Amino acid sequence: MSTRQVEHRGTSSETYLSVNGLRTTFELRQWGFLRAGEVRAVDGVSFELAAGESVAFVGESGCGKSTLARTLLGLHKPTAGSVVFDGQELGTLKGAALKAYRARVGYVQQDPYGALPPFMDVRRILAEPLRIHGVPRAEHRRRIEAALAEVRLSPAAEYLGKFPHMLSGGQQQRVVIARALVLAPTMLIADEPVSMLDASVRVEILELLARIQRERELTLAFITHDLSTVRHYADRVFVMYAGRIIESAPVEDLIDHPQHPYTQALLTALADPDPANAHRERPIPAGEPPSLIEPPAACRFHPRCPHFMPGTCDVHDPPEFEPRPAHHSACWLHG
Ligand code: SF4
Repeated sequence: MSTRQVEHRGTSSETYLSVNGLRTTFELRQWGFLRAGEVRAVDGVSFELAAGESVAFVGESGCGKSTLARTLLGLHKPTAGSVVFDGQELGTLKGAALKAYRARVGYVQQDPYGALPPFMDVRRILAEPLRIHGVPRAEHRRRIEAALAEVRLSPAAEYLGKFPHMLSGGQQQRVVIARALVLAPTMLIADEPVSMLDASVRVEILELLARIQRERELTLAFITHDLSTVRHYADRVFVMYAGRIIESAPVEDLIDHPQHPYTQALLTALADPDPANAHRERPIPAGEPPSLIEPPAACRFHPRCPHFMPGTCDVHDPPEFEPRPAHHSACWLHG
């Protein structure tokens, strides 16, 4: 591991994942060949995670958090910047080294039904990664049954022969988590793992992930639009807006003392006592999220910000200030 230190929850430990100036963009083409612009899904993101740390990336739909997750998984090629995982630069990994990286980073997708092949039963779904990564067949049964027990699908015999359509949404997501665990990863990336589930099973799945993270001492990156869920499941929170991290802090400090106007708006919307808004799944500050093709200049939140300072916020990019210990916010109000 590298020897750099990361601060979290008042402790410091070695950096496990280091992301610097990461950009992931997608070219837009007209008539299949003319370049018509680019989508700046992740645009200059930097952060460090310690081994065994649990963090949440929070933001509205389209803020780039899922593209960030897929870039960390090696599913999108970064346009610029670096991702260093346990001392290895992701961009340099190829062949067997890239395959080994993918075995160490488990992925829990948002839509469990879409994530599971409908023509495979649970036994084959869980055996597939073992087969692909060359785990001896003699070990499959033990590993599969252990993974099912870990996600509380037991006795295993009751589930092994079932196809995805024969399982409830919560059971499907447990199989997705078991599949992510079967190769014994050291890091887990969970992309909106409960947003497609009934409210009644969301807490169960969140608690399951939190327990697995603690017991296995996994590094967990949790992607969510719902700031209300992170207090119990994350050490630190990164708030994303228009492809960038605009605030980061230990979870309690971020929720009790939000510094960036966007985070403040998210938390105010969450606390909205109006019963007419009780159905909202995504509390949203006033105004529309910006286009990632032509994002606003300088501070990307300025068209929606109640504290907008013309000539500053729309001209100069705010750097990252540290208005409270270990609490960072990219806003000129702190400058
Ligand atoms: Fe608002 Fe300016 Fe801060 Fe951006 S930099 S959040 S526009 S006050």
